[in-house]
Amino acid sequence: MNPVLLVTGGSRGIGAATALRAAARGWDVAINYSRDEAAAQAVAATVRAMGRRALVLQADVADEAAVLAMFARIDAELGRLGGLVNNAGVVDVAARIEGGSVARWQRLFNVNVIGSMLCAREAVLRMSTRHAGGRGGGIVNLSSAAARLGAGGQYVDYAAAKGAIDVFTLGLAREVATEGIRVNAVRPGIIETEIHASGGEPDRAARMAPLVPMQRAGSAEECAAAIVWLLSDEASYTTGAVLDVTGGR
Ligand code: NAP
Repeated sequence: MNPVLLVTGGSRGIGAATALRAAARGWDVAINYSRDEAAAQAVAATVRAMGRRALVLQADVADEAAVLAMFARIDAELGRLGGLVNNAGVVDVAARIEGGSVARWQRLFNVNVIGSMLCAREAVLRMSTRHAGGRGGGIVNLSSAAARLGAGGQYVDYAAAKGAIDVFTLGLAREVATEGIRVNAVRPGIIETEIHASGGEPDRAARMAPLVPMQRAGSAEECAAAIVWLLSDEASYTTGAVLDVTGGR
């Protein structure tokens, strides 16, 4: 049986590229999405065409009941979980602090932070050697270069949420280090995906490219390569690491 990987937000962008690369490296893949089922099904069809199993799962990662139901379906339909990529994430339109609202901050923290913690909890319950049937595994969290840069004038709230992901990654890695689980994060820089349109700036990647030492935006596939490497046995002594995939920014 192939190892089983859950990719949250696997319907497009970095998550979809990760699901496809993981399938090419031998993983069966559970592909989570929140709204766009057709996109998730298209990724699943490509995974199946590679000879791997794929399961498409709708769930808002910030909704505890939906997340519990999602993990129960993975248990029943794919079997023992071996990896989790906490990729689902959201930005909002650029705004200074004066333009913020509790509703905006709660959405950014609920999806980006609570959603990742919730999925990590369920993954650890299944993967930790402390628990019955647990045989270890890997977790990769998606942070952002914003956690280092602060994103002043754009979205300090999103940056703060991703800063929480960096600390969560380090702490959880140490918590489960003797239980067969490695926990790492990838910190993408400016990556060409649809997330920028959801922040009201579809051409953001092209506009920001001159700020990058490598003078270009990155691709979802370049992030996926780092994520799938961190999940692999090649990274067997790497845990608690936050890997910048930023073109030097
Ligand atoms: P994207 O193209 O906007 O894709 C986001 C994915 O997450 C979609 O599959 C979306 O599914 C899903 N999603 C959104 N909210 C969700 C929720 N509440 N529950 C479950 N799924 C949800 O984003 P991306 O650019 O690939 O980014 C992926 C990750 O990298 C995010 O964590 C992001 O913060 C981080 N990141 C990206 C960049 C960048 O420049 N692109 C830079 C730094 C960090 P639906 O379409 O079905 O809603």
